[in-house]
Amino acid sequence: MGNLAGKVAVVTGGGSGIGTASARRLAQEGARVVVADIDGESAARVAAGLPGEAEAVAADVSTEDGVESYIRAAVDRFGRIDLHHLNAGVLGTMAPLPDVDPADFDHVIAVNLRGPFLGLRAAFRRYREQASGGAVVLTASISSLRGADDQLPYQTSKHGVLGLVHGAAMYGAPRGVRVNAVAPGLIPTGIFAPDRAATLGQRGGTIPMRRLGTVDEIAGVVAFLLGDDSSYVTGEVVSADGGAFIVNTVVR
Ligand code: NAD
Repeated sequence: MGNLAGKVAVVTGGGSGIGTASARRLAQEGARVVVADIDGESAARVAAGLPGEAEAVAADVSTEDGVESYIRAAVDRFGRIDLHHLNAGVLGTMAPLPDVDPADFDHVIAVNLRGPFLGLRAAFRRYREQASGGAVVLTASISSLRGADDQLPYQTSKHGVLGLVHGAAMYGAPRGVRVNAVAPGLIPTGIFAPDRAATLGQRGGTIPMRRLGTVDEIAGVVAFLLGDDSSYVTGEVVSADGGAFIVNTVVR
């Protein structure tokens, strides 16, 4: 039996990349997992490959109906929800500020910021209905903490995620609900368009640890933040970036 035996967990964006690794790790720790993704086929494939009981849901996290559908699926199948990894995200189009398309800005904000807001709201409503505590992890980013070239919508959305973490952690602390974030550095996943993915390896050389991260290295932080080993940790943003953030923050 793992650390999360008996728990029910929801992972959004679980059909690919970090979300898939998180779903796998939470299942290995003993949780029953609901894999939610806008790509229902991917969610189904991932859920079918997990150890233990799992459910897949096709859901768009940027809509109230989408969020309601994964909450309902979890409760119908497992009767409750204890843990949420609000992870679904998009990068948007890379463009210098004068050329950012407002429609792209709106889409990135809808998925990356409205999505976790709706997810947090639904999580807290569920905890209230269950009269239970729980834990929530949001996927922030190194872009939550510093500037980045040509990524204004993404960076803005990920800075906003920190506001959600801090506000929700304040609300949750006296109610037995912990809210934290993981801030990944560069992790090769499907979020990068093929042209950027091709040059990702070179950027690994600029990172203090001299390599890109892996999805499993992010999932380990998620499992820690959702488990009882972090029972006194809330409102925290844990960077998992090979030291990339300290390059800009430590004066040598
Ligand atoms: P990914 O593209 O491999 O996975 C993202 C998943 O989210 C996909 O399965 C996609 O279908 C799903 N998704 C997209 N829009 C959705 C929506 N509206 N509703 C539901 N699901 C939706 O990318 P990833 O790198 O695994 O990204 C996961 C999270 O990690 C994102 O929030 C991303 O911003 C964050 N992140 C990634 C990196 C990195 O280097 N890969 C770095 C920092 C933060």
